[in-house]
Amino acid sequence: MIAVLTGGTGGAKFVQGLMQVVAPAELFCIVNTGDDLRWWGLHVSPDLDSITYALAGVLSRERGWGIEGDTFECLAAMERLGMPAWFRVGDRDLATHLLRTQLLEQGKTLTEATHGIASRFGVRARILPMSDDRVETRVSTPAGELAFEEYFVRERHQVEVTAVRFAGAERSRPAPGVLQAIAQAEAVLLAPSNPVTSIGPILAVPGIRDALHATAAPVLAVSPIVGAAAFSGPAAALMRLHGLPVSAAGVARAYADFLDVLLIDEADFGTAPAVEAQGVRAVWAPTRMTSPESKAALAQVALEVAQSAARVVANP
Ligand code: GDP
Repeated sequence: MIAVLTGGTGGAKFVQGLMQVVAPAELFCIVNTGDDLRWWGLHVSPDLDSITYALAGVLSRERGWGIEGDTFECLAAMERLGMPAWFRVGDRDLATHLLRTQLLEQGKTLTEATHGIASRFGVRARILPMSDDRVETRVSTPAGELAFEEYFVRERHQVEVTAVRFAGAERSRPAPGVLQAIAQAEAVLLAPSNPVTSIGPILAVPGIRDALHATAAPVLAVSPIVGAAAFSGPAAALMRLHGLPVSAAGVARAYADFLDVLLIDEADFGTAPAVEAQGVRAVWAPTRMTSPESKAALAQVALEVAQSAARVVANP
């Protein structure tokens, strides 16, 4: 079994690669829920949705989020009614949020609701929220504190960030199956997701970081940074805020306490010594995911390297 820790767009692309090279029953995705929000009274889980749609083969190719070919009639109608419309919800996507909200109101946990939705989409891989407890990524800016999607979508991550916190994390527990997946996996992979706001909330759930340290499985991450920049999104600014160099070495430093191998972009092979100075083995390959083939190739390399890697981190 392969466990992958993942977030939204970068994570979804990597999962689209993994699903081409790992049997569905063998794939366990542990997903960030720090971006979850209440929208028009509905429980929206943006990262769970992206991974579900990716595994169901319906993720929008053009947008990288939401459902391929979706329409936005409801959004337009809500806007005409004077409702907020900065968070774009497609009509078919809306059905997912309606169903999730209903399942949660019936007393189902987020794990159960996620499983119920994934099954109805025909997904056979396991999608696990990091926690059934509410953990909220909050972003401080000079104008006040924002929920993650207010920062990311409404403000287009163009505002200065002075701090990031994961409200509720201290009291949260890993969702059922998360620690077992990490403990029993043949390999644990970290998708090239934002280290601060996509992988960071998962690591903030008490017990998960320890499980990554304790597992006998090799742990491999794919770098979302090439050169001194992220492929997309605010990872660079957020890493700088956390005192991490914006480089593959900075990614290695963020995960050094449990990481065995960092898969960096081939263009970055010169940074391998700086990665290895963090006590993490560096390997390089093409990591830009632009086609089904490049996604599958990256997933295949990640798997092969992880499965042949010796555990470097000493087990406690
Ligand atoms: P978000 O919630 O949409 O920010 O989702 P993620 O955290 O999963 O994805 C964002 C991260 O994915 C960014 O830090 C990007 O640099 C990274 N990313 C996006 N596309 C690619 C790609 O093709 N290759 C790699 N290696 N990283 C990518």
